[in-house]
Amino acid sequence: MSSGPVGNESGARLAERARQVVPGGVNSGQRSVPGLTDLVVTGTDGARFRTADGREYIDFHSAFGPPLLGHNDPDVARATAEAGATLGHMGVGVTEGEILLAEQLTELIPSIEKVLLTSTGSEATFHALRVSRAATGRRLVVKFQGCYHGWHDSVSLNVISAPSMVGGHDPISTGILPEVLEATLVLPFNDSDAVRRTFAEHGSDIAAVIVEPVPHNVGTLLPFQEFLTTLREETTKAGSVLIFDEVITGFRHDIGGWQKISGITPDLTTLGKAIANGAPVGAIGGRADLMDLFSTRPGAPAFFAGTYNGHPSVVAAALATLRKLREEPVHEYVFRLGDRVRTELTGLYERLGVPAVVTGYGSVFVSYFMPGETPRTYADLLDNDASLFVGYRRRLLDHGLFELPLNLKRSHISYAHTDADVDRLIEGTEAAVKAVL
Ligand code: PLP
Repeated sequence: MSSGPVGNESGARLAERARQVVPGGVNSGQRSVPGLTDLVVTGTDGARFRTADGREYIDFHSAFGPPLLGHNDPDVARATAEAGATLGHMGVGVTEGEILLAEQLTELIPSIEKVLLTSTGSEATFHALRVSRAATGRRLVVKFQGCYHGWHDSVSLNVISAPSMVGGHDPISTGILPEVLEATLVLPFNDSDAVRRTFAEHGSDIAAVIVEPVPHNVGTLLPFQEFLTTLREETTKAGSVLIFDEVITGFRHDIGGWQKISGITPDLTTLGKAIANGAPVGAIGGRADLMDLFSTRPGAPAFFAGTYNGHPSVVAAALATLRKLREEPVHEYVFRLGDRVRTELTGLYERLGVPAVVTGYGSVFVSYFMPGETPRTYADLLDNDASLFVGYRRRLLDHGLFELPLNLKRSHISYAHTDADVDRLIEGTEAAVKAVL
């Protein structure tokens, strides 16, 4: 297992040093986990990570989703290192790797005729909204309760909302201009009537609809096919841009994304996370007439730039990830383990008499602690027992198992997980749930 440059200091001491110089001691929201304030990661390997205190965990959090092949996949690591050793980032012109990656993305993802690389998913969704407004000359965007599209102002609202905030505007940050929030309409996911009503009223002002085709930022809400069809029909009729934010679903659920699975082709697609197995990447692609509005084409109106876009090491990571996804039965393998987890957890909760619903898709799984059917709307999730959801995950730590102990967070299986890891997860979950009942 590769280790970082950490000496013999304890996790507590290192975390305290971090808090002195880094606000909250971590570099992104939701990395500071209540009850785990001394978590300093020193090494990752496949399905595992190790901490400064010498603890080792089987990792089902997977950094919110990127390492579909597992941490430090040797082929991806080799390709990344080779690119770093032979090709510095010039920031001018283009490299052959960028051309190869763009060619493969256009070949694999149904909506993508042309594509641009960014360094993060947030940049991709930001540019998707900007170019939609540039193309249509319209102001409004539509998002759905429970979907997360990054940190920028137009979409920083209504992700995990308290019941009293559902139905209104619920910003996740201060410092956003009210007129920006007002230009975002928030609708319930999977509610086709709400979409039709909104288009009947505001259609000629709607620049874009942005949606996680499977909202995984609240665990998993599987879409009704008819809902995605309605999005496609209404946006087409109104001349609005349909954006599938496939930052999580892209490559993880299918090499062609959810659009390949559903057969619904959006106008624009945003990608990130699993497409480079952990290297910092994002991409925006779609209809050529929309993509040609970006200012990478001389004279085009929608400004687009980024110092690190198309960085050779990141591109090499993405190409190596793609090669492995195409050449090895990665999806078949992680889907089988995912099915095992969902089936066995369902059986476990039944045996324990715990009202729970296990859902997910492919390599993603989540246990909600509530009675009833598989949730399809954010409102369904309001019945989830948050203290049980977070509580059993904290107890999992005692068993060397890591699922992020924050409410509604999904978990991931990678190509590096084994059946023995799943056995440990099921045993550990049984002990953890019994301990908090
Ligand atoms: N879109 C979705 C669906 C996401 O889940 C995320 C991040 O979790 C983003 C966009 C933003 O990506 P990034 O964190 O790389 O900026």
